[in-house]
Amino acid sequence: MTTPTKSGPLTQEDVWEVRSRSEAGEANAELAVAFDVSKSAIWRIVTRRAWADLGPKPEPTPLVEVLAEVPEEVPEVVVEVTPKPDAIEALKGELDERAAKRAAKREYMRAWRRAQGAKEKPGPERSAPCGTRSGYKAHLKYGEPTCNACREAHNAWQAENRQRRKERRAVVAHQASVV
Ligand SMILES: [Zn+2]
Repeated sequence: MTTPTKSGPLTQEDVWEVRSRSEAGEANAELAVAFDVSKSAIWRIVTRRAWADLGPKPEPTPLVEVLAEVPEEVPEVVVEVTPKPDAIEALKGELDERAAKRAAKREYMRAWRRAQGAKEKPGPERSAPCGTRSGYKAHLKYGEPTCNACREAHNAWQAENRQRRKERRAVVAHQASVV
C-alpha cells in the first residue's frame, strides 16, 4: 500500500474538516487519501503541530440572530376607506333597475307565450287539457298557477307512482327472501 506523500496546501476549511472527521473517528490514513496529502500532514494537523493557532470552527449564526438583523423597513400602509353613501345608493338603484327590467322582460315573454299559445301555435304542452298531468306541467312551464283539476291529476299520478315503487320494493324483497 502506498502512502500519499503529497502535502498540498490545505485551506482553513479543510483543516477544520480534518479535525472534526478525525474526532469523529476517521483514521489518518483515510483522511490522507480524502484530502490528497500525506498521513504525516494529517497527523500534524490532528495533533495541532500544524495550524496550531487555528481555533475551533465558529458556529453558524443562529437563524434568530440573522433575522434580528434584518432591518424592519416595512412601509406603513394606510388604507383609507371612505364610505360613499351616494355611490352605494346609486349601485342599489342600478341593481333595482336591472331587476325591474328583468322582471318586465319575463312578464313580456310570458304574455308573448300566452298570446302564441292562444293563437295558431298551440304547442304540444299547451294542447294538454286540464285535469291531466301534462296540463299540470304546462301550467308550471308557463308560470301559471295550477288549477284544481291539474293538481288533482298530478297528486293522483304521484300517489300511483309511490304505490308502484312500494310494490316493486315488496317484489324485490320477496325475491331476496326466497333466494
Ligand atoms: Zn289546469
